[in-house]
Amino acid sequence: MAVHLHQNDLPGGLDLGPAVAVDTETMGLAHGRDRLCLVQLSAGDGDAHLVQIAPGQRDAPGLRALLEDTKTLKLFHFARFDLCALRAGLSIVCAPVYCTRTASRLARTYSDKHGLKELCRELLGVDISKQQQASDWGAAVLTPEQQAYAAGDVLHLHALKEKLDAMLAREGRAGLAQACFDFLPHRAALDLAGWAGEDIFAH
Ligand code: MN
Repeated sequence: MAVHLHQNDLPGGLDLGPAVAVDTETMGLAHGRDRLCLVQLSAGDGDAHLVQIAPGQRDAPGLRALLEDTKTLKLFHFARFDLCALRAGLSIVCAPVYCTRTASRLARTYSDKHGLKELCRELLGVDISKQQQASDWGAAVLTPEQQAYAAGDVLHLHALKEKLDAMLAREGRAGLAQACFDFLPHRAALDLAGWAGEDIFAH
């Protein structure tokens, strides 16, 4: 595994393939208050690219080109949060997307545990650490522990997608899952527009 650290944007000419795993780290959970600090990406080849976003930075053209490219599928775990962070921080409207958490909610109805750690353990037999989850992602220099943690969050999403897709197909829910993935960018837009706490489909 190699971790590549980049400042402000992805370098030009980097090809991450037809499906790229993406994750973000922020200062906290409130979009608008808590800035976007880090965007992690992986082609699913065991390598990770970490892009540090500076305070006050509002654009990243290379990142935007990749994340808005309709021919590249972006894989997330809990896409709803990351889509909001990318939109609020860099005005990136990311699509098309796949979400391993949403896929798990639809496929693994025998469980109420849909965290990344749980999915990696059950479906891949891989133990990932969540120890650095709450740490200062706004620091100018990330610790080796933070870098390893941040990379770990994008290294298994391709393998998880393969397992979850098989389960969704088996249970006849692939179409429903796709419809949910297609709606996710709009769900994020609703969150940022003031409907974060509400189910607009409820009576
Ligand atoms: Mn993460």
